[in-house]
Amino acid sequence: MYEKYVKILKDHSLKITSPRLEVLKYLDEHHGHPNVEQIYSTLKKKHPSLSRTTVYNSLETLKKNRIVQSLTISGSELRYDIEEELHHHFICTHCESIFDIAISCPNMDRTIAGGHHVEEVQGYFKGICKKCQIKQKGKNNNG
Ligand SMILES: [Zn+2]
Ligand SMILES: [Zn+2]
Repeated sequence: MYEKYVKILKDHSLKITSPRLEVLKYLDEHHGHPNVEQIYSTLKKKHPSLSRTTVYNSLETLKKNRIVQSLTISGSELRYDIEEELHHHFICTHCESIFDIAISCPNMDRTIAGGHHVEEVQGYFKGICKKCQIKQKGKNNNG
């Protein structure tokens, strides 16, 4: 079950370590853009000897190699996302959930036409997510 992640590390000439594999697997299975704390506390249940620093360092290595990306859109904390296709994000200002938005950037073609090589797109939208809208409506109706 780790073969996929072993291959990713190999393809980037990275040493295969258990924390790197665990972090990759976690991000691949959790697309909710978790922060370090969420990743660490989940992995720690399975690997009690794991330290927060190790998780953080693994994330940094994966980030440097563009296997994962970090988002700073919710303020000071970093939220992690496995790099797949370039995509935009919607953040709910109420519950701080981050959703992937699959629309292409209208400025992208123009940037490429200028001869630049785009490695990262950090477009984001802010608002109230569907769930929170429903909750708010419920509140209004009740009182
Ligand atoms: Zn929300
Ligand atoms: Zn994302």
